[in-house]
Amino acid sequence: MFFNSRIAGIILAAIIAIIMAGYLAFLDILSIRAILSTTLVTFFTAFLFIFLTLEFVILREINKLYKMLEKLKKKDFKQFVKKIKNTGGDHYSKINQELFNFVSRKEEEIDELKKLENYRREFLADVSHELKTPIFSAQGFIHTLLDGAINDKVNREKFLRKAAKNLDGLEALVQDIILLSQMETGELKMIMETFDLNLMIKEIFEQLEDKAEEKEIKLILDAAQNHIIVLADPFRIKQAFINLVDNAIKYGNDKGEVRVGLDKDKDHVHVTIKDDGPGIAPEHIARVFDRFYRVEKSRSKEKGGTGLGLSIVQKVIESHSSKVSVTSKIGKGTIFAFKLKTSNIG
Ligand code: ADP
Repeated sequence: MFFNSRIAGIILAAIIAIIMAGYLAFLDILSIRAILSTTLVTFFTAFLFIFLTLEFVILREINKLYKMLEKLKKKDFKQFVKKIKNTGGDHYSKINQELFNFVSRKEEEIDELKKLENYRREFLADVSHELKTPIFSAQGFIHTLLDGAINDKVNREKFLRKAAKNLDGLEALVQDIILLSQMETGELKMIMETFDLNLMIKEIFEQLEDKAEEKEIKLILDAAQNHIIVLADPFRIKQAFINLVDNAIKYGNDKGEVRVGLDKDKDHVHVTIKDDGPGIAPEHIARVFDRFYRVEKSRSKEKGGTGLGLSIVQKVIESHSSKVSVTSKIGKGTIFAFKLKTSNIG
């Protein structure tokens, strides 16, 4: 760097000195000796001025940037960002700003990658943990049968049923895991169609009728209009509704009620799924959409829950450019809400 500023200084100073000498010679008022000494003084003064300017102002700043880039290479982002912030306000603030933006972007990308990496690691750990329980249980029942319980007429059917129940749970879990990961990787695209939402809710009620009857829960549709046509993926939306209504029945009180409300405005239908069950405590509410999060682990498992139902609902609703929210009051019940685009065609 020093060598470059010296060469540049010599060249520029020589040009200035030559111009000066030419000009003095042209004026023809000084002797050759005086012109030569003036040229020499001009050369040295110009050299010094240019050299110092380059060295201490421009090159010093460039050196600073080089050092910062060195840090960038070493991924020392935190210090780098701080340094750039401190150099703001001088002539180089624009370059600094550009670098600052670049580094900030890189930092965000790295954070995002770290988050994804953590997510993958946690997901793998969670999935292995969740798969372990039904596999080991089914294995236990089958081995007990093989070890002689098969001859015990009273217990063999009971054990076989228990093994089958665990394997059914395993299948539901694997299906949910596949669906969730397909949605997360963007592999699963929504197929948008227009359909009658009221009709779909009625079909879902019929499908879950037996479950609701077991607990003497009433399923009620509160719709502002008889036919509300929405633009959405019917298959995925149906799945999201089934998860929400099924949860409302599962976690709701016996002899209670589950209400699906459809309220239409100009472009949207506002959906609510409301139960009058025990509700969700405030410390759990923010986490119910997390994968495998259960307020009461044993209760959810005993009810056949995979712990992925609400994560799937959240992904489906997000894929429809909407957001699902939850409000709950202990002892009063829970409301899940989201909106869907309506359509005038259909
Ligand atoms: P699960 O398969 O366990 O039902 P979900 O993701 O569907 O998993 O729900 C996560 C947890 O949120 C449930 O385990 C339950 O504790 C709680 N939950 C969901 N819906 C309701 C509800 N309507 N009332 C009370 N708790 C609920």
